[in-house]
Amino acid sequence: MPKDSGDSTPNSADFCANFAHTFSRQALRHIATSRTLPLDLGLEGGQIDNNDDACVTFNKKDPDTMSNGVIIVGAGHAAGQAVASLRAEGYEGPITVIGDEPYIPYQRPPLSKKFLAGELDLERVYFKPPEFYEKSNAEMVLGKRVVEIERPKKLVHLDDGTTRAYDKLILATGSRVRELNVPGADLDGVFYLRTVDDVDAIRAKFNEGGKMVVVGGGYIGLEVAAVARQHGLDVTVLEMAPIVLARVVDPIVSAFYTRVHTEAGVKIENGVAVQGFEGSNGKIEKVDCADGKKFDANFVVVGVGIIPNIELAEGAGLKVENGIYVDEFCQTSDPDIYAIGDCSNHPNALLGKRLRLESVHNALEQGKTADASICGKAKAYAQVPWFWSDQYDLKLQIVGLSAGYDQAVVRGNPEKDRSFAVFYLRDGVMIASDAVNRAPEHMMSRKFIAEKAKIPAERLADESISMKEMLG
Ligand SMILES: Cc1cc2nc3c(=O)[nH]c(=O)nc-3n(C[C@H](O)[C@H](O)[C@H](O)COP(=O)(O)OP(=O)(O)OC[C@H]3O[C@@H](n4cnc5c(N)ncnc54)[C@H](O)[C@@H]3O)c2cc1C
Repeated sequence: MPKDSGDSTPNSADFCANFAHTFSRQALRHIATSRTLPLDLGLEGGQIDNNDDACVTFNKKDPDTMSNGVIIVGAGHAAGQAVASLRAEGYEGPITVIGDEPYIPYQRPPLSKKFLAGELDLERVYFKPPEFYEKSNAEMVLGKRVVEIERPKKLVHLDDGTTRAYDKLILATGSRVRELNVPGADLDGVFYLRTVDDVDAIRAKFNEGGKMVVVGGGYIGLEVAAVARQHGLDVTVLEMAPIVLARVVDPIVSAFYTRVHTEAGVKIENGVAVQGFEGSNGKIEKVDCADGKKFDANFVVVGVGIIPNIELAEGAGLKVENGIYVDEFCQTSDPDIYAIGDCSNHPNALLGKRLRLESVHNALEQGKTADASICGKAKAYAQVPWFWSDQYDLKLQIVGLSAGYDQAVVRGNPEKDRSFAVFYLRDGVMIASDAVNRAPEHMMSRKFIAEKAKIPAERLADESISMKEMLG
């Protein structure tokens, strides 16, 4: 299924057909059951009524264990990891993944990087290849949404009217884009970036060329700006804060990225609030800002943050507070229900506080934590968070949380070079670092932050001392 151009997006039915071709008979039975396909597959066991109108509305218990198994809601990064870890931990019961997108779990980071640039096919973006789910004997129910959890009966209800029973439920519902609620927001040519389908639509516009305005100078906005500029588009980034990346990095790193983008020909306008879009014949033409400035646009990509998908949990009466509230084992206020990834608000013993993170590392580690708990090997979640961003030839690697630092130590020269690191200290203890094209600095920072290491600022800044020698 090559994904090089915008017009090759598989629809749900194509995907189902392609997907089914790659699967064994046993896996096909699972898929057919889950997709309620009216097919005569010659299967034993009476799971599928071959009547054309038949619709399977319940899970069969595993005949050996009499278990309804684990249902994972959402088919993103966290869900893919949860399948892998359940089997790795020795879980033998049924596993069902129910996701509302028509794809098996895929990685979102490439969506604003190499996949957007057309350098990767969809297959290369999958978290695991399709065969993995067959080998893991995991039933993939794709293109379907869970609309209700009936906790007293341990059932989930799907948007196709079917119902599934679970023993344990994992909510991996992720997040969705925050939409701009301004006049003209529904004009043709206003895009958001969260899914493979969003990229297909944006890439089609790339191919038309012209002027692109990015609303939001965060990671995703700047990554899209970099790819678009490399495609020869005329790019303007509009950021409401006084500097780009304001929420996540020190002004030193922000200034570096402003320089890099400006040198590449991207126009960055800080301190401007978008208040509407203008167009004609239903198509966007201009972006209006509160200070009266107007920017011409053939299309716009909005990247102004995300909102966690907590409504399903909330509707089921689970505790919700900036995400689905879980303990150190990713367990919600219902002991049979877990929440992992972008949607969870969790405690981190290493950091000594609760937080909700939007990162791949967190999605993977929480998948492992929930599964270990389900398999009776509970281990508290305690991880130093890390994240990355690719723009042009630059890899930014961020570890820890810099909020509350009292000293920023620079190693290298961000004003001239394209490789440096900034270490963030509080009371002399390293709490975070941003490293641009500096893998050793990033790797050693992970260790130092976990160990709450105190390293004198002069040593950190001294490039004649290698990172390995840093502790002396
Ligand atoms: C463009 C982009 C670039 C990124 N770059 C980076 C990066 O460089 N580094 C990094 O660490 N992180 C990055 N991230 C963030 C990272 O991708 C997320 O943190 C990660 O995908 C979270 O995984 P998740 O499984 O929790 O949620 P998601 O990936 O959001 O998956 C959740 C899935 O559940 C589905 N769903 C929701 N509700 C239901 C329901 N009721 N029934 C069925 N399905 C449902 C959703 O539609 C979605 O498909 C990026 C994100 C984006 C969008």
